[in-house]
Amino acid sequence: MSSPARPGCAVFDNIGCLVTNDPSIGEGRLGCRTGSALVAVDGRVAWVGDAGRVPEGAGGSRVDVGGRAVVPGFVDSHTHLVFAGERSREFAARSAGGHYQAGGILATVSATRAASDGELGATVSRLVAEALSSGTTTLECKSGYGLTISDEERSLRAAKEHTEETTFLGAHIVPPEFAGRPDDYVALVCSTMLDACAPHARWVDVFCEMGAFDADQAAEVLRAGARRGLGGRVHANQLGFGPGARVAVETRAASADHCTYLSGTDVDLLGASETVVTLLPGAEFSTRSPYADGRRLLDAGATVALASDCNPGTSYTTNMPWCIALAAREVGMTVDEAVWAATLGGARALRRDDVGHLSVGARADLVVIDAPSHLYLAYRPGVQLVAGVWRGGEPAWPPTGGAF
Ligand SMILES: [Zn+2]
Repeated sequence: MSSPARPGCAVFDNIGCLVTNDPSIGEGRLGCRTGSALVAVDGRVAWVGDAGRVPEGAGGSRVDVGGRAVVPGFVDSHTHLVFAGERSREFAARSAGGHYQAGGILATVSATRAASDGELGATVSRLVAEALSSGTTTLECKSGYGLTISDEERSLRAAKEHTEETTFLGAHIVPPEFAGRPDDYVALVCSTMLDACAPHARWVDVFCEMGAFDADQAAEVLRAGARRGLGGRVHANQLGFGPGARVAVETRAASADHCTYLSGTDVDLLGASETVVTLLPGAEFSTRSPYADGRRLLDAGATVALASDCNPGTSYTTNMPWCIALAAREVGMTVDEAVWAATLGGARALRRDDVGHLSVGARADLVVIDAPSHLYLAYRPGVQLVAGVWRGGEPAWPPTGGAF
């Protein structure tokens, strides 16, 4: 299927349905084109046009997509991959009628503290590879299961081996040694813990929820991170109504994540803000909670992203196509809206303009879907439709290079 060529250069021809997310070069919000070709040069999209009309002299390996669909690589803007242990029994208990409470995180904290650097690194590596196999080419990864200075710092080091989008989540929950003294823990997070962790992070996040951190504590953590150059993200309104979404908007956080329980005021605030709302339907699936109302947020003008929330307790999946299917079925989004949210929406949540779309100049991160269109991502849930993944114009998955 390909010939030796310059790294990062490739010609994709005979694309059945190409999702560009650029309305100026295709139909609708997804900028869909049928019968297309795409040329990548030095890792970037250099040309998009009609199949069979690739410009003379376009070098690189040639990939005949054979009429299959191509979408931008998925941008998973919310994961927790640095952990040890597993919590399948909690999942099973919920299926027998139990309920999720924020304290379940502590089981993962003790396992993570006991794990070696090598064990943590191996878990991140395994899950990043798993995510890639379902089309994720950009991935954010949080700390938050260490909750000591050294355990948070080594968690971020492990994440940074695989992604630039690392997030300090020291304020995930109050650790047991600070029980009853949340303000003392927040003071630690905002001082020496942030000093140690900020060099390894791009973002700071906080779990603003009953049982975790209140509005004042959350704002303090976000401000302390901002003073060290970190952008803000908030776990907001996951388990009940509360101030998280408001804090995210007021602190100009890049993203308010979960947003399952929103008041009308919250929806209006988010709709009028630049804070992206990142919906995580995998968490609602796993915790047997009501799904977020994506329709209401979209109708209010909010920018909506979809992410996996991959973590061992409440959403142990890396599979973005499955999240798209859930969003289209349960969150009130159309398939097109869900695909946009899992690609360009995720990029917006990470304030990235180089990924999540396939305009000329974007990173040539793309996924070949073994189907005639992107609609199949939701239409055939749970089926491995990803036939090949390219990052920066180079084949990234399957490891053997693949052929179709
Ligand atoms: Zn999370």
